[in-house]
Amino acid sequence: MNEVFGLVENLDRCVGCHSCSIACAKETGEKVIEVREIGPRTIKGELASDFLLTASQDCLCKEFWEKDSDPPCVSVCPTDALAVCDSRELLKKIQSENSRKQVIQIGNEEDHETG
Ligand code: SF4
Ligand code: SF4
Repeated sequence: MNEVFGLVENLDRCVGCHSCSIACAKETGEKVIEVREIGPRTIKGELASDFLLTASQDCLCKEFWEKDSDPPCVSVCPTDALAVCDSRELLKKIQSENSRKQVIQIGNEEDHETG
């Protein structure tokens, strides 16, 4: 049983292709995540944009969490910019460290109870 669910986006890998949000809408019938362009601005000494994923509601992919498999948004990403995280410690670490990764979505703990 997953204790907590989060999606982690690696900003250094995301190219803003929108495949994740399209796959999400196709799977769930809802627009749970959207891609927003931030920039262009100077990133690591070069002019570039970031593509930030935002969530409008809790994730709806409970069956994927329960099967411990990647949800559609993760499996379609061509650059491996998205990952599922079900470790509370790892989520806390990512949220606290000064990295170019962000936690997009955390489901309610009750959502993960499979019993
Ligand atoms: S599919 Fe991957 S690369 Fe494309 S917008 Fe989503 S996270 Fe970024
Ligand atoms: S895990 Fe969340 S963001 Fe990804 S496809 Fe499912 S509902 Fe959409």
